[in-house]
Amino acid sequence: MNVLIIYAHPNHESFNYAILRQVQNAVSKAHSVTTLDLYEQGFDPMLRFDEQHKRSDLAKNPETEKYRNLISKANHIIFIFPIWWSGMPAILKGFIDRVFAAGFAYSYKKTGLKGHLLGKSAWIITTHNTPSFVVPFAEDYGKVLKNQILKPCGISPVKLTGLTPVEKISDERRREFLDKISKTASGI
Ligand code: FAD
Repeated sequence: MNVLIIYAHPNHESFNYAILRQVQNAVSKAHSVTTLDLYEQGFDPMLRFDEQHKRSDLAKNPETEKYRNLISKANHIIFIFPIWWSGMPAILKGFIDRVFAAGFAYSYKKTGLKGHLLGKSAWIITTHNTPSFVVPFAEDYGKVLKNQILKPCGISPVKLTGLTPVEKISDERRREFLDKISKTASGI
């Protein structure tokens, strides 16, 4: 299986980076893995609409072609990112805006969207500090990416793992989180 990891954290010393390493190590034992590190790539998250940049051209923009090709090739997509202001980092939101374009990831039908990314599954791994009993009542925390972006684009099933709290716990507890991620990743 082709597995694409989309990683959005600016610091390679971070806990998110430790998660990325666990996932890469576990998944690469059985699958072909490509990692897209959005900060390392210097991905430009700004969606532009003007005389030179038409919305109707987004799906064939040469600047984002390599990302569309990676998504097309992937059977399984893993997102790894911290929760910032209840949602995904802006660089990842900009990636979705620019790459998951109409005509590529979906098209419009009379009622809602027709997903084009069929036959793919996904796993979203997030970190934050909000108690897990609060998350079901909170806006977003990865739920928007799962239910309002990936699923309408045809990606299913989508698993969402929220590791929390990650900052106010012992190193041992964080290592347990990493073990849990590694076990799940080995089962892909
Ligand atoms: P880091 O800060 O890199 O690390 C966390 C801890 O893990 C540190 O103690 C570090 O030493 C340790 N660590 C690092 N590597 C390892 C390793 N290999 N093994 C064990 N331990 C390790 N949180 C919310 O709940 N809701 C919000 O709305 C929210 N908004 C935010 C907005 C902004 C702009 C920012 C910056 C933070 C926000 N947060 C929020 C908190 C954010 O979600 C956490 O800071 C983030 O998830 C922590 O992940 P990290 O990879 O950056 O951790």
